[in-house]
Amino acid sequence: MRMMRLTAIVLGLAVLAGLALPVLAAAGQSGEIVSVAERDFTAAGLGRKGLDLLMRKDGRVFLVASPGEIAALAALRVGFTFETARLLRASLEGLSADGGINGAYHSVLELETDLRILERDHPGLASVVEIGETLEKRSILALKISDNAAANENEPAVLFTGCHHAREWISVEVPYLFGKYLLDRYDLDPQVRALVDASEIWIVPIVNPDGLEYSLHVYRYWRKNRRANADGTFGVDINRNYGYAWGYDNEGSSGYPGSDVYRGTGPFSEPETAAVRTLFAGVGIDFRGLISYHSFGQNILFPWGYTTALAPSNTELRAVAAAMAGLIAGVQGTVYSYGQASQLLYLTNGDTADWAYSLRGAPAFTVELPPVDIDHGAFFNDEAAIGAVFEENLPAMLYLARYAVDHPLPVRPRVVERRDSAGRPAAVKPKPPVRPAPGPSR
Ligand SMILES: [Zn+2]
Repeated sequence: MRMMRLTAIVLGLAVLAGLALPVLAAAGQSGEIVSVAERDFTAAGLGRKGLDLLMRKDGRVFLVASPGEIAALAALRVGFTFETARLLRASLEGLSADGGINGAYHSVLELETDLRILERDHPGLASVVEIGETLEKRSILALKISDNAAANENEPAVLFTGCHHAREWISVEVPYLFGKYLLDRYDLDPQVRALVDASEIWIVPIVNPDGLEYSLHVYRYWRKNRRANADGTFGVDINRNYGYAWGYDNEGSSGYPGSDVYRGTGPFSEPETAAVRTLFAGVGIDFRGLISYHSFGQNILFPWGYTTALAPSNTELRAVAAAMAGLIAGVQGTVYSYGQASQLLYLTNGDTADWAYSLRGAPAFTVELPPVDIDHGAFFNDEAAIGAVFEENLPAMLYLARYAVDHPLPVRPRVVERRDSAGRPAAVKPKPPVRPAPGPSR
């Protein structure tokens, strides 16, 4: 490990020290994982700079920093350690030689092929639906599983999504394998059959195909989509672009385009979030639950993420999360911690779960898949572990789907999305990053 204090070589940058870090992030597209002592992190106020935080462990905060941000850290006299090299070593050891650059993980084309195969092999039960198109003209595909999948039978629906964030490859595999499991087991397992017959299970394994391809071919740590921003930087964090409490403050998302948690120019400005909105909030489908898969950390997070105030149905959300954590632990003993997103991890605004929950109070969760921390591989899950990660999540997925079937939601919105006079989702003017205010009333 190299503990670097770069102040000597960046004296010329000292003038920049007064600027917010994300301004500097505009400089480069590549970056490094670095860690900073938690004490220094807090003292320098880095929690409010829109940095791409990965985790906290053993008194250190790990983040992905662009070259500009690294220079700014140095200019702020914050000591840091480069962590990329040892993590990359771990990642290369985990991929087979014959699976191409992504080993056993799906590329966008590979996933489309496999979804079409499921549709072909399970006529009537599986339907591949294009729910949107990305900036680079890739299809955002959903797999709908139900008896009479081609018809809208107005059955209770539940949504499982993966890969909002490009580098979180394992998050593609878990929802995809869930769909494959349901279809393969339909004729063999009465419980699976009863569930599928009574519901619509929607699976979007890759919400962010442009980002995933960029992560596969260009830059493994890419997180956002591939929006060309006005200032020359690329990407919007599509898990900060949803329309509930969008831009609520500058701690839960960033207004700087170069930031890895850039929220975009307005709520649902990105085709990926617009596609999920059209599906989940559209007329005619009774969505009653959602899990958005991410990695890493082994957490089950529930709303709110944008405030530490409790959600209206906090007790229910906590109980469902606890049940899922118990089911996961029951498979092979893996511990997933659970809690309100803003309390257990950090503040986020404009994320999937807050928005989905805000519509009608549907239980909505972000699940951070393994590994538990950076020392166990961070975004790089050994491909040999894909099956085991899915297996341990399977009972929780079945549980949430069954829970959705058994728990109708009120037709009227429980929490109303902020809208302007024309009925569009209202852009919330970002407030200064102070202590979060209490959440809106119902
Ligand atoms: Zn993520």
